[in-house]
Amino acid sequence: RAVSRLIIVSNRVAVPEAGSKAVAAGGLAVALKEAFNAYRGLWFGWSGKIAETPSGSPAIADRGRVRYAVMDLSPQDHREYYSGFANRALWPIMHYRLGLAAYSRADYAGYQRVNRIFAQALASLIEPGDLIWVHDYHLIPLASELRGLGVANPIGYFHHIPWPSGEVFNTLPASTELLRAVADYDLIGLQTESDVHNLSRNLVDELRAIPLGGGSLMVDGRRTRIRSFPIGIDVEGFRQAADRAGMNRTVRDTVAGLRTRKLLIGVDRLDYSKGVPERMEAVERFFASNPDQRGNVVFLQIAPKSRTEVPEYEQLSRDVNEVLGNINGSLGEPSWTPIQYVTKAYPRAVLAGLYRAARVGLVTPMRDGMNLVAKEYVAAQSEEDPGVLVLSKFAGAARQLPEALLVNPYDRFEVAEAIRAALYMPKAERLERWKPMYERMAREDVDWWARTYLADLETFRTVEREPP
Ligand code: UDP
Repeated sequence: RAVSRLIIVSNRVAVPEAGSKAVAAGGLAVALKEAFNAYRGLWFGWSGKIAETPSGSPAIADRGRVRYAVMDLSPQDHREYYSGFANRALWPIMHYRLGLAAYSRADYAGYQRVNRIFAQALASLIEPGDLIWVHDYHLIPLASELRGLGVANPIGYFHHIPWPSGEVFNTLPASTELLRAVADYDLIGLQTESDVHNLSRNLVDELRAIPLGGGSLMVDGRRTRIRSFPIGIDVEGFRQAADRAGMNRTVRDTVAGLRTRKLLIGVDRLDYSKGVPERMEAVERFFASNPDQRGNVVFLQIAPKSRTEVPEYEQLSRDVNEVLGNINGSLGEPSWTPIQYVTKAYPRAVLAGLYRAARVGLVTPMRDGMNLVAKEYVAAQSEEDPGVLVLSKFAGAARQLPEALLVNPYDRFEVAEAIRAALYMPKAERLERWKPMYERMAREDVDWWARTYLADLETFRTVEREPP
């Protein structure tokens, strides 16, 4: 039979260089590599560019099996849809940070407007038989908009971040509308069972949805299905990158600079959900209660800046600088800096080598949908001498990585204790914890994630739909 087409929609689309057949190396691009081998692909979304008067139709570029269709945003669209509603209202609320949420009606109107513009531009590209897979919180209303334009194809959504309990979600002034909008998708993929529980429960409470079993719900006379599909990584690829990384200059220099010191590592976008200052305070606590370890251990925090146009991120950056300066100033010696902090982004090949070199991976978000760094740290360890993962129990990854040292990131004493336990853990126990995590991740890797989701979305092809 003819190979059918998969349409991916995501906020940000990186179009590969002309002449290149490779899919660009962003996170989602890596995740969809296998899917684009099974389907012909169309990838639609924001170009990442801001234009004074953007065109209403997308720019098209063909690269190998994938066609790219990208739209520019106006400065106002970018401010209201992206920086405003998506990143100052939805992001904090989805991460349980009510105090950081800044809702504005104008931003929400911008969010709806961009989703409508995207739907109109995309609708003209859709053919019967296409599967449509929409990604992440920027695009929750897209399915409703497409349905309004008469699109009857299966439309799925994957939510990469947490879905909070109704008590939290419903504080958002637009919450009911967003619940109706999300229920317009045929298949709603979430990271964890607890996300599934939160959303399903809220649909029942707020919209009187009727559970039909197997994750299906009847909402306002439409059927939707909500299931968890924990996103994975390219486990084998990461392990190989770590094997090869010894040759990399940055990795070699870092390891040489350590001499006999043991390395703790943290790698995060600089985001308040990641618990960076809290983690630094836990490291300070560790050195306070383990003075013999001063000079023997260093903590390297890599934290590339992110969303710098959003005021809460500027504040975080200042807070981190202050905490860091205080700790290094009060604990450090001319010969030893306890915390090394870099805000540059490093390529995955370098990260793989640094993970391998670190005795302990500190992944302590206050809340996280999944957290790929936790998985990458585990994937990069060698069977000969694996390091130890200290992992927040509020990361989605904790469900698949229960052998990590699970901690409450709000409790710096507990995190400090876990650092100590990790540093002193005998090899037999490190191996015993690492192996089942590695094996589970290898089974539930990124190809498994995309394959499982798409197989589920395929089942909606047969559903008959009333014309709107
Ligand atoms: N990352 C990177 N270079 C950096 C820092 C991070 O390539 O300097 C990558 C990291 O390897 C991981 C991703 O960014 O694949 C972060 O994903 P995660 O789920 O941990 O957090 P997110 O940033 O999506 O909230």
